[in-house]
Amino acid sequence: MKRADLVVENARVVTPIGIFEGGIAVEGGRICAVAKDPLLPPADSVIDAGKKILMPGAVDAHTHVYLPGFIKETFKTGTMAAAVGGTTTIIEMPSTDTTTVKNFEERRKIAEGEAIVDFALHSGEIQEERDTLEISGLVRAGTTGFKITMGGGSTAARHDGIILESFMEIGKTGSIAIVHAENHQLYEHFRRKIAQEGRNDPSAYSDSRPNIVEAEAISRAILFARFAGNRLHIAHMTTKEGVELVRDAKDRGQPVTSEVTPQALLLNKNDYLRYKHYIVYNPPARDEEDNLSLWNAINEKIVDCIVTDHCAYTKEEKDVGIKNILETPPGIPGLETKLTLMLSEGVNKGRISLMKLVELCCESPAKIFGIFPRKGAIQVGSDADFLLVDIEKEDKISADKLRSVGEFTPFEGWRTKGWPVLTVVRGEVVAEDGEVVGKPGYGKFIPSSLASREINDE
Ligand code: ZN
Ligand code: ZN
Repeated sequence: MKRADLVVENARVVTPIGIFEGGIAVEGGRICAVAKDPLLPPADSVIDAGKKILMPGAVDAHTHVYLPGFIKETFKTGTMAAAVGGTTTIIEMPSTDTTTVKNFEERRKIAEGEAIVDFALHSGEIQEERDTLEISGLVRAGTTGFKITMGGGSTAARHDGIILESFMEIGKTGSIAIVHAENHQLYEHFRRKIAQEGRNDPSAYSDSRPNIVEAEAISRAILFARFAGNRLHIAHMTTKEGVELVRDAKDRGQPVTSEVTPQALLLNKNDYLRYKHYIVYNPPARDEEDNLSLWNAINEKIVDCIVTDHCAYTKEEKDVGIKNILETPPGIPGLETKLTLMLSEGVNKGRISLMKLVELCCESPAKIFGIFPRKGAIQVGSDADFLLVDIEKEDKISADKLRSVGEFTPFEGWRTKGWPVLTVVRGEVVAEDGEVVGKPGYGKFIPSSLASREINDE
């Protein structure tokens, strides 16, 4: 048997076809064998997993680690957080201008100099006519998709014509439109109303963008995509109404996918009492019945993946919300807490299986955005991006331990059971027991192959 660079043995290995006891071998940064221990080749270095879970590294399809002028986070600090939290590939969402190939390549270079884990890049945001001109060039440059904010913020598309035209252009390339689904006029209407009432209680934030604001936009995006014939992905879905709309679209066979965040699953309006403006994000915290609907949607395949929407404002930056809740910068950090929260609240509480967790956090996002099977699976030929997870380990989430620049987490003090204890990217350890060991500049750009082949929907 040919000698490998690295062997991990004595693990519970999660593969696309099931969980078995054994290990993997790594050669040249890729997985060269997945087998029971006696069948693994000899290797230069051997890790005894001590019966821990060996699963693919998480692929986070929605992060904001680089928003100059908005947040202090960088590709370096953001991917340090990713490494510790068990994410081996981030797909960075632009909220500033990445609508030209030139800007895309600049962003890629910055990330290549700083990233500790691998990364892919969404393009956008598409706001006006000229933002649609380089869609096919961006697809050739390897972008994973195109972000369009339908409403609810300063980067919103100017009008519906832009949204529809961009869907049609994206459809021609085989790439995917990713929508932040909020109706802009309704958002402005409710926001004005809450401001006029002079409300400054934290739940005024949710009331300024009620469920209908999201539901109408999801409904319109689905209809537009049906007309334009493009693939559509609903970013950070939060409402039970959204779930029903995506269910209908999927039932009709329309290529629509959706994602949720841990905060949309685990927090709701009641939590404003405890966490105040620190849990302001868009779309906002909803009701318990929305939480429940999203959990059910996960197991019914209405929700395809779990993402962080990581956006790490500092505590001080968030505190703008003390004076005026509506002015709070929206977003919370999540790269370090997502996996332990899903292992604890999902797998260990019996809401989802371990296989489902891997599907939601690794396999599906890689498939939807065209980086599977290079990423998102433990199988021969895939990049050796994997985690060892101690499913029994209990620890407390604490902002003191966070690597990202966000000096707070809404999950402060939560006791979670199940933690990633080793993170490996292309055969190299990048984090171990909560400590970063990877080096900035190691992370590679992963181009999407969406345009060149049909997505594997299995
Ligand atoms: Zn968004
Ligand atoms: Zn976002």
